[in-house]
Amino acid sequence: MTPERRPERSLKGLGVSPGIAIGPAYVRASGTAEVPTYTIAARAVEPEIARLDAAVERAKRQIGRLRIKARGMRGAAGEELAHLLDAYGQMLGESRLLRGARARIEQGRINAEAAVEAEIVDIGRAFAQMKDPYLAARLEDIRGIGNRLVRNLTRAPVKPFSAVPRGAIIVADMITPAGAAQMDPARVMGCAATVGGAEGHTAIMARALGLPAVLGVAGLLDHATSGTVTIVDGDSGRVILDPAPATLAAYERRREERLRDVHRLARLRGLPAATRDGTEIRLEANVELPLEMDAVRAAGAAGVGLLRTEFMFMNRDDLPGEDEQAREITRVVAAMDGRPVTVRTLDIGADKLAAVLTDGLAGGGPSALGLRGIRLSLKKRETLETQFRAILRASAHGPVRILLPMVTTPSEVRKAREILERVAQGIRRRRGGVPEKLPPVGAMIEVPGAALAADALAKVCDFFAVGSNDLTMYTLAADRANETVAHLFDPLHPAVLRLMQFASEAAVRAGIPVSICGEIAGDPRFAALLVGLGFRELSMAAANLPRVKQRIRAMDALAARHRALLIMDQVDAVRIAMLLDDFNALQE
Ligand code: PEP
Ligand code: MG
Repeated sequence: MTPERRPERSLKGLGVSPGIAIGPAYVRASGTAEVPTYTIAARAVEPEIARLDAAVERAKRQIGRLRIKARGMRGAAGEELAHLLDAYGQMLGESRLLRGARARIEQGRINAEAAVEAEIVDIGRAFAQMKDPYLAARLEDIRGIGNRLVRNLTRAPVKPFSAVPRGAIIVADMITPAGAAQMDPARVMGCAATVGGAEGHTAIMARALGLPAVLGVAGLLDHATSGTVTIVDGDSGRVILDPAPATLAAYERRREERLRDVHRLARLRGLPAATRDGTEIRLEANVELPLEMDAVRAAGAAGVGLLRTEFMFMNRDDLPGEDEQAREITRVVAAMDGRPVTVRTLDIGADKLAAVLTDGLAGGGPSALGLRGIRLSLKKRETLETQFRAILRASAHGPVRILLPMVTTPSEVRKAREILERVAQGIRRRRGGVPEKLPPVGAMIEVPGAALAADALAKVCDFFAVGSNDLTMYTLAADRANETVAHLFDPLHPAVLRLMQFASEAAVRAGIPVSICGEIAGDPRFAALLVGLGFRELSMAAANLPRVKQRIRAMDALAARHRALLIMDQVDAVRIAMLLDDFNALQE
């Protein structure tokens, strides 16, 4: 008797990374390290305390490894880390945190991670009433060690997708950007998740890896189980479970057509990115992971317009040292063979988290409106100094620019420049090898206030890079990683366009280069508008470069300018989209 076939089920979500993936589902429950809370039986108290003790022992070993690293670090950074580790070491001895957590397990009969979490909250409340800056700093330490213990207890997966069977499709409640960075394109075909928006970093990571992805699929885990035959249609934003034979065959045909298309577009590699009337546009690549460099070169990128350095800080318990960072950045610089690489300093915050840097930060830490990007770097100065030293070392292997994320005021750029200068002097004194002329320093324009005051910022910057993803998010108050407000996230909203125009015109007035490296730069639909607004450098995921080049070669820059001016007179995003699509259709 043949088993009954389950009916085909088609679920709608946001197509965030194009392409078709077909394979068995690999279902993973939520990837967040939420603290599970449950009660335990009296007989489970002792084993639960033993579990806590094991997590403490594990934390001691981790701290021991960090101590060895701290000894290898020079100057104030090493000292500061050593102090912090001493404080951690003390708390792993007989501390209020552990006494309190054990008591909660015994008396409250709750699991160890919930006990640790409750004790942190309680200590936090007590400290908050004392308003003492010393205690505030101690509270950060307590949170730091508490979070480490919770991680050890929940064993929050550091390599969440290492067990994925080859050829599978990852299906999850949530895929974090750090988790996405662990998806191996040689094993994983594509991914789908219940939550997530199109411009969040999980989506960006999937595009970077060339993995078809659909996020924000309501009810996904109600229907998918591991092994279910699954189609991820990243073009239309559909996930099809248990496809009928005819559906499967149609999708297989589409997948082959797409492959042929990719090969056809690859022929554009050697052709110039110039409009019909001769305006040259630099098409560069955004890079999230060094493994993309083959694709970047194959796409014929004129440089790396945005190297996101966060990949070095995710999925680990410690900080990458100067040597490791210098090695990774140098890999990218060397792969570009003399073409420029724009290295962005760490942009931890919002949906990109690195526990080692942010655990225990007060005031909401690195939330979207909190200590994100350059704000965190200026607070964690030694981390910024290490990054600068690593970037300067990499700059010996090819032209490099330094880009600061989340800049809001000129003083942040000034401070970063001072630190860079001091770091360079330190290297010159000790071992030399830093060029007299330091790499150009620029600012991301992604905070609306920065765009509005771009004239002032231009005075302290050597270049601008417009980040349309965050600029859209902050201007429209719509979280880029949240599928429930995806309908509001519209870079064609006149407010966003005006801010982009502000920034590009301020750069032109100041005579500094301006590029755009948000996701709209990689969408051929927007190319004419961006060229019309005066952008001559577009940086995007390598996979998008051929299509954007094709579009650039088909357009007339002067006509694009006229159309952009017409668009800038509009007040309605729908009309703007219509004017843009009409123009694109005319110039095909
Ligand atoms: C942006 O905000 O547009 C940008 C390019 O930076 P990220 O996506 O890394 O925040
Ligand atoms: Mg950004």
